[in-house]
Amino acid sequence: MKLRLFLVFVIIYITAVFGWWLYSFITYTEKEYQLEYNNLKLNAMVIHNKLTEFIEFNKSEKNEAPYQTYKNRKAEIETLHGNLNRSYHTNTKLSLNDTAGNLHTLLNLQIEPSEFKAIHRNFVKKQRAFYSEVIFFTILVISGVVWVFSKLESLLNLNKMQNNFLLSVTHELKTPLTAIKLSSQTLQQRKTDEEIRQTLIQQIVNNSDRLNELLDNVLLATRIDGKSYSYNMVKTDITALIKKTAEMVLSEPYYSGRFTFDEKSREIILDEVSLRLVFSNLFQNAVKYAGRNADLSVRYGENDGKFSISVSDNGKGIDPKEYKSIFNKFYRVGDENTRESKGTGLGLFLVRQILKSHNASIKAESNLPHGTTFIITFKSLNYE
Ligand code: ADP
Repeated sequence: MKLRLFLVFVIIYITAVFGWWLYSFITYTEKEYQLEYNNLKLNAMVIHNKLTEFIEFNKSEKNEAPYQTYKNRKAEIETLHGNLNRSYHTNTKLSLNDTAGNLHTLLNLQIEPSEFKAIHRNFVKKQRAFYSEVIFFTILVISGVVWVFSKLESLLNLNKMQNNFLLSVTHELKTPLTAIKLSSQTLQQRKTDEEIRQTLIQQIVNNSDRLNELLDNVLLATRIDGKSYSYNMVKTDITALIKKTAEMVLSEPYYSGRFTFDEKSREIILDEVSLRLVFSNLFQNAVKYAGRNADLSVRYGENDGKFSISVSDNGKGIDPKEYKSIFNKFYRVGDENTRESKGTGLGLFLVRQILKSHNASIKAESNLPHGTTFIITFKSLNYE
């Protein structure tokens, strides 16, 4: 949250800096345009004065009327005008009125309208260039900053999730270990009757299985994540696989809910070991988050040549804001210190990775009125 607030400040700062640059550039071009405009007019005045001086000089030298000077020296005046234009970088038009008398009516200097237009065109061009450059760089810099911040945020989240993972794995390892130790110590210290002995031994076996499963899951996750797991794709009856997995998961003594599934047999090309892990994770989650009376159902669907399997439960459901994140590595809803349920946050990540390798996707939806539905969609026609 703090990082986002900081990002907003950075974006505002960048926009202000670029905005200020744009303002300065535009003011500068306006001033430059005004300067060129004034310069043109000024140079025209200088040319006018020089020509006037020339005529005045000849008038006083030769004692002739200005009009006479002009008539006698027309070619000279025009050449002089041309030269003055060149040396003052102007393009003025000279009209020489042939009415006698006043010098000013004799010389009429006009600035070519095309010159004003050229200056103005140049001004508009510069303005456009500044607008597009500044806008382009603002967008570029802001996108770069947003990208860096999002990477930083995901790194920080990953770090937090890894810490959560360590906490939960330690907890997951400690609980069965403590149970095994307690059962073993009881067996060691007390003389118990055969029935209690058997229960204690069964508890040791169950907890060892739990430990084993946890370590298997972590190892498999590492192999699947590191792409070193090789999938053994074989045509398999998915209905039988689902039934077998459900039986294993739901055989836990504390589960007393209902399990319904699509009994239509369906063959898909899949890797049995990993797909069993997919369904055992989904079923275990359903039981874990829906409680002992979890109502679990598996349905098939077909649309546009795609085959889908939905797994629904009647549990507490998931906040729609979390639908995407729950598939991230180590992600668990809530905080590790306050969370009641056990887990590592690896389950749904593994599920998604395995399904990806089967060219299938998974998404979470709400199962009205309560609970969650996970929909698996096989995109290619690798089923019959
Ligand atoms: P874990 O169960 O080990 O925490 P998962 O990757 O299996 O990790 O699940 C990620 C999170 O998604 C869980 O922490 C849980 O909050 C939520 N979740 C998964 N399945 C369900 C479900 N069926 N009902 C409610 N919440 C669920």
